[in-house]
This record gives sequence, structure tokens and C-alpha cells, in this order.
Amino acid sequence: MSAIDDLPPLSRVIADHGLSARKSLGQNFLLDLNLTAKIARQAGDLTGVDVLEIGPGPGGLTRGLLAEGARKVLAIEKDARCLPALGEIVGAYPGRLQVIEGDALDIDPLAHLEAPIRVAANLPYNVGTELLVRWLTPPDWPPFWQSLTLMFQREVAERIVAAPGSKAYGRLALLAQWRADAKIVMSLPPEAFTPPPKVSSAVVHLTALPAPRFEADALVLNRVVAAAFNQRRKMLRSALKGIAPDIEDRLRAAGIAPTERAEQVSLEGFCALARAVAAG
Ligand code: SAM
Repeated sequence: MSAIDDLPPLSRVIADHGLSARKSLGQNFLLDLNLTAKIARQAGDLTGVDVLEIGPGPGGLTRGLLAEGARKVLAIEKDARCLPALGEIVGAYPGRLQVIEGDALDIDPLAHLEAPIRVAANLPYNVGTELLVRWLTPPDWPPFWQSLTLMFQREVAERIVAAPGSKAYGRLALLAQWRADAKIVMSLPPEAFTPPPKVSSAVVHLTALPAPRFEADALVLNRVVAAAFNQRRKMLRSALKGIAPDIEDRLRAAGIAPTERAEQVSLEGFCALARAVAAG
């Protein structure tokens, strides 16, 4: 029995199911159920809410989300070894947990979820940033989710909430802050995980805004910002050469000097540039 439900402690789950952590899957597990319940609470009031969880592993955060009252959790896990352990949670919360085995990058979860939907995950960092960018750049807004509560390496979390002019400012900050409010809500030392990773981690909570802060096409903005920060030390007129042959004119039309560098340009400036680029 554990502090939050009648299921066994996670250290026993891991031992019983032989879930030795695999580096290739970015497996650093959270075994303290009080901590996973605390992370689940960062996702907001889950009453009457469906939660999409990516990478449940042995199910620590899953149990936190269910104990915190989620109407339903849809958990997508790539590692088939975790399925029997997750099956025990399905049994303890009848009708409230659905597990899908597979790669979250290939699965469309929406067929299995009903609004309102929140997302919560402790994911390997490269899959996490890829999913974050996808969740932030659908063509239409508001998106399918109300909020995202995601664990990242501390350094990535800082890139998501960064302000212009700082070293961490770049594509993630712009895409996140364009359509969402983003803040760091928890910091975790390496020892919070089994096995401990090399770096500290942080939980970022993003709330979808009803409409983007400034008008822009998501694909064009993503392309412009990616190119601008790919060569962040270069002046924008050369970093963005591949975007349009007359990029200097388009920069000027957006109110940006062609000699500026990406990290000096605000979100409003990049949105104006995306509009100038899309203008044909
Ligand atoms: N949520 C668990 C916890 O907090 O203890 C596990 C976290 S562990 C950092 C990341 C989990 O994501 C692992 O269970 C791993 O197998 C799973 N995973 C890795 N890549 C994935 C992918 N592409 N799609 C779905 N799950 C993935």
C-alpha cells in the first residue's frame, strides 16, 4: 500500500515487473508517489478532465493523476515491459485508465479523449521538445488541450520561459509564449529520479491562451524563427537569406533592421515578420 492509493509502492512494482531503466528510452523514473501527486496537482483541477499522459513507465505520475481526480487518463507508452504494471493500475481505477502501447510521435490520441483535455508528462527531452512544438503549432487555435504540464531538463525549461535578449531566448520561448502562458512551477534535483540523470529538472506549466498574442501563420512563424535562431550570431539579413530572396525588404516591412540579430527581436517583431513573409 502507498500513501495515495492501495497499490504497491513503485520500488516493488519495478522489482516485481523487472523494469530496469533503459537509457535508450530516456527512462529516469519517479518513485515517490507524494512527489508524483504534487506534479499532478500542478496540472490544475482535474475533476471532469481527460488527461493525456505520454510515457507513464511504471505509472507513478499516472497514479498521481488518477488520485487527483482525473475523469480519465490516456497513457501512451513505448516500452511494452511497462504494460503489466500499468494493467494493475487499470484494475484499481476501473474505467478511468486506458493504456496504448506505441510511440507517442506516431499516435493520434484524440480519438480516445473528450474535452476538456489536459496533458501531463515526464518524458525524455528530445521527444518532449518535439511534442511540445507540435502541440504549440497546430494551424488553428485554441488547441485540443487546456494546459500542458511537462517535465524537462532545467536548461530546456528555462528556454521555454526565456525573455528576449537572454541566452536562453529562442524558438521554444517564442512558440510557447506566442500562444500560451508558460511558467516553471517546480524544480527537481537529479536524486528525485531513479536512476538519477546528470542534470536537474523542472516542471513547466503552459496554459493555452484563447487566441495567439499576435497574428501569424504557425508554419511560417515556426520556419522563420527556426532559421533565425539556427544562426543566432548572424545578422537576420543573412540568417534568413533562404526564407525569401527579398528578405531585407520584408524585414524592414516588419519594422526590423536587417542588421539585427535574432535574440534582439521580440515576439511581436517575429509575428510581424511572419506576416510580411506570408504576404507573398
Ligand atoms: N512517467 C514515468 C515516471 O515519471 O516515472 C516515466 C518517465 S521516463 C523519464 C520516460 C518514459 O517515456 C519511459 O517510460 C519511456 O519508456 C517512455 N517513452 C520514451 N520515448 C517514448 C515515446 N516516443 N513514446 C511514448 N513513450 C516513450
